[in-house]
Amino acid sequence: MPKNIIILTTGGTITGHKTAGLSSTYESAKLSFDEVFSPALKKLASKILNINIKITNILNIGSQDMNNQHLLKLAKQVQQASKQNDGVVIIHGTDSIEESAYFLNLVLKTSANIVLTGSMHTKDSLVFDGVANIYGALIVASSQNAKNLGVLAVFDNKIYSARQLYKTHSRSLGAFSGQIGMVVDNKAIFYFQSSKDHTLNTPFDIAQINKLAKVDVIYICADFNEKLYDFSQSDAVILCAMGNANLPKNALKTLSKLKILKVRTSRTNAVDISKDGEIDDEKFDFIRANDLAASKARILLMCALSQTKNAEIIQGFFDRF
Ligand code: GLU
Repeated sequence: MPKNIIILTTGGTITGHKTAGLSSTYESAKLSFDEVFSPALKKLASKILNINIKITNILNIGSQDMNNQHLLKLAKQVQQASKQNDGVVIIHGTDSIEESAYFLNLVLKTSANIVLTGSMHTKDSLVFDGVANIYGALIVASSQNAKNLGVLAVFDNKIYSARQLYKTHSRSLGAFSGQIGMVVDNKAIFYFQSSKDHTLNTPFDIAQINKLAKVDVIYICADFNEKLYDFSQSDAVILCAMGNANLPKNALKTLSKLKILKVRTSRTNAVDISKDGEIDDEKFDFIRANDLAASKARILLMCALSQTKNAEIIQGFFDRF
């Protein structure tokens, strides 16, 4: 029996086109998805993979323009689509794909396969990776092996978990980290899985979320200029701090006066932040994001704030998701 897979498109480089000959200048989200994944290719993929494919366009943006309204719209449409299909493939720009993927991983209430993909190069490039990535994503979206692993992403036949996915290179085809599996001979194979709870096992439900809190990210550097920041519009702040999520004294002084939630993350993206290391977390009311980078800590904090402002409960969410 063929599986039903729906492709939801949001734009990105995969539907971008070059604006200046051989240079790398281009605009995202300029072509129709049919120009990238033609009806003939769609038919071929359906036949080889024994799946029915539908395509729906929901946004036409470069993912650097993905805002909270877009994110909610995307998640609500994916939730809806997951009710009528075995799998959903989301075509997304790669710049903010790690954020959207993690949001979906936290708020979707579905056991359907949800897979994001896109491309690093435009269709007019000799090394266009779009079609192979769509093909890989269709394989994963229809695979029994991908069940219960949370939201996934596919690039260059590598399968990534939404929880661990990060874009780590600006131009290379191998631009991502967080790989947990591989597409080999039209099959999805997994080596690892994230130990963090996701989708059906989180308290966040997209059906109940209609607005997201304003959570801002502040990058902390040497000779930090605290005067540049006005937090009056922020419901909470994520600090992309140094090393073991350390902050200079002037930043600590400014933050100690703020009555909003503050989360410490590390610029190194790779540490578990020590509680009360060089910073007294209780004194400054800091929550620690553990291994989550600032981009993802912002997503989890927005979800958390849809339920509670209690710092202890939110620390529990950071420990669990
Ligand atoms: N700015 C583009 C985007 O995120 C570039 C990245 C891409 O799609 O690969 O939409």
